[in-house]
Amino acid sequence: MTATTPKHKKAKALKPTSRRPAKQLCSECGLCDTYYIHYVKDACAFLNQQIAQLEAQAHGRSRNLDNPDDWYFGVSQDMMAARKIEPIEGAQWTGIVSTIAIEMLNSGKVEGVVCVQNTKEDRFQPMPIIARTPEEILAARVNKPTLSPNLSVLEQVEQSGMKRLLVIGVGCQIQALRAVEKQLGLEKLYVLGTPCVDNVSRAGLQKFLDTTSKSPDTVVYYEFMQDFQVHFKHEDGSLEKVPFFGLNTKELKDVFAPSCMSCFDYVNSLADLVVGYMGAPFGWQWIVVRNDTGQEMLDLVLNQIETQPVTSKGDRRQAVQQSIPAYDKAVTLPMWAAKLMGVVIEKIGPKGLEYARFSIDSHFSRNYLYVKRNYPEKLEAHVPEYAKRIVGQYQLPE
Ligand code: FAD
Ligand code: SF4
Repeated sequence: MTATTPKHKKAKALKPTSRRPAKQLCSECGLCDTYYIHYVKDACAFLNQQIAQLEAQAHGRSRNLDNPDDWYFGVSQDMMAARKIEPIEGAQWTGIVSTIAIEMLNSGKVEGVVCVQNTKEDRFQPMPIIARTPEEILAARVNKPTLSPNLSVLEQVEQSGMKRLLVIGVGCQIQALRAVEKQLGLEKLYVLGTPCVDNVSRAGLQKFLDTTSKSPDTVVYYEFMQDFQVHFKHEDGSLEKVPFFGLNTKELKDVFAPSCMSCFDYVNSLADLVVGYMGAPFGWQWIVVRNDTGQEMLDLVLNQIETQPVTSKGDRRQAVQQSIPAYDKAVTLPMWAAKLMGVVIEKIGPKGLEYARFSIDSHFSRNYLYVKRNYPEKLEAHVPEYAKRIVGQYQLPE
């Protein structure tokens, strides 16, 4: 059999304009742009939620439902705060993701890295690639805060004859990837994930920028930060901060993609290693090692990062409970009140892992209500048991 002859069943990839099997809920993960669409009914995160089974396949066990830390952060064997000693200029945070990917390639552990660059014309238009050089990986640094068809390059993996691959991606992409992993003909797959929440289509992103930033055209980066403000970095290096509580909730209510409004995999349960920020002090990144493959990747960069243990401070529960009806009614505070509230919450509010729990609780409650109201027939099977337990701690409106 030649490298270009797939051993598995194929189906014809969909045209970019065709309706996806998950319809409105499609997150454009890219699977349906390939002949692996054959497996879509089983693999799609929005047609067949199967996180527990895939956790057992990837990590040797699924979440322990008697352990609330597992509800929140998934299967893990280690967790820490970290930052690069010499940050990568222009990375989303300090560039730990790009650095790990580069070392994976340089050490020969993999022959290629699935990551996402942007198009020449538009810095936020995603362009997934299989990087084979450190330069190509570096060119993919920084978030493309839009739905990105990372899996659309999977056919090329098989056609190239590559046997050792690293895939970087967010939860919905990784769930579909794990479901077809055995069909890829690889000797070894490494999965490096980031948390992900509130993603948007390219048009949705424009609406968000236009509604929220003073200078939407010059934004090169943004992040919802642990200080309860959105930080926008502009082309000239200036930083603009907008408090969460001052966001125009009414305008923005429909801006998030329906897939992201019905997602319960914020922490990328199925990646070997997850690199985010929300469980770490401000300025640091948050690392979750899920299994030995994840540790193998992290080991490659230990000499380039400083680390500290994760900590947890405060009690998020009251703030979450109050935020649920406020979001539901699309309450927007006047800017002075929003700023004041941000300052107070930053002083006394949840920190470290408790901040991560705050964000997970708020998003899961919102998403649970969204699915219950819009897709009641999907609610039972689509919401994983750990998410039901998280949401069950709060009183939700009807
Ligand atoms: P870099 O070295 O800059 O590398 C970023 C990598 O992300 C690149 O390799 C690129 O291929 C990949 N990438 C960029 N955009 C996408 C995309 N749309 N889909 C898939 N892969 C992509 N972390 C949290 O802790 N809490 C959050 O709420 C949170 N929300 C996020 C929302 C989105 C839409 C994304 C893409 C990420 C989010 N993250 C979140 C992760 C966080 O923002 C950083 O990406 C992560 O900490 C890595 O930073 P870095 O400097 O190491 O990455
Ligand atoms: Fe296909 Fe992915 Fe969309 Fe599901 S989310 S329909 S697998 S492209």
